[in-house]
Amino acid sequence: MFEELANGVFRRRYESLDLNVGVVLGEQGILVIDTRASHVEADELREELRTLTTLPVRWVVDTHWHWDHTFGNARFPGAEIWGHELCRKTMVELGDSMKEDAAVWLPDRLEEIAEVVITPPTSVFETAAGIDLGRVVVEMTYHGLGHTDSDIVVTVGEVSFMGDLLEEGAPPVFEDGFPMSWPGTLESAVEIGSSIIVPGHGDTLDRAGAAAQLEEIRAVADLAHRCVEEGIPVTEAAILGPYPPDVMASALERALAVEH
Ligand SMILES: [Zn+2]
Repeated sequence: MFEELANGVFRRRYESLDLNVGVVLGEQGILVIDTRASHVEADELREELRTLTTLPVRWVVDTHWHWDHTFGNARFPGAEIWGHELCRKTMVELGDSMKEDAAVWLPDRLEEIAEVVITPPTSVFETAAGIDLGRVVVEMTYHGLGHTDSDIVVTVGEVSFMGDLLEEGAPPVFEDGFPMSWPGTLESAVEIGSSIIVPGHGDTLDRAGAAAQLEEIRAVADLAHRCVEEGIPVTEAAILGPYPPDVMASALERALAVEH
């Protein structure tokens, strides 16, 4: 079921991967934010869109390059596909090797993953861009390194889609992230963002929920700094953080590998 968060702005929370997809109705077409984890899932989404409107999908926006948000892109051939310039670059460079990550999460669906045609954004920007849907303008902004190198905030009126810069119902994923930079990026994103916040996965958040998660990610960054500056071993620091030790260890190891 699509949930209408504001006039003409919807989200659909899928059981598969607890992923959120956004939909914005325009005058002559609609915009879809994130396209799900495969062509099969994207086809299901396309069917469901018909319950909202007969208008075509004219724009797709990828919140970041991760497979669970972009592997459905190929199923929207008539649409402009928007994303950050580094989202495009990473998808072009990684190519089919992105499927290895998907295979870890979906071991029962290897054939389906193999069939995915990886389709990077064709319309890219560096700091900000807007898409005029006639009825409304959708603003896209980039705030720096965070969950990946290319997370963007997609704002339409009182709703902001923040991709995996925020996550509800599960700890954030740090494997491709920049834990030391993430708090500053997220703070800037929340500052310009609207009051209804849609994370990449899980339930919607308000500003207080986003601020609480920012504090947790700040605690991770502080521990990463202590590992570097005070020489605390990762295993010791990992039990001091706001998330389970395995998540903390992956965050701290990633920070030491790419930000130190
Ligand atoms: Zn992600």
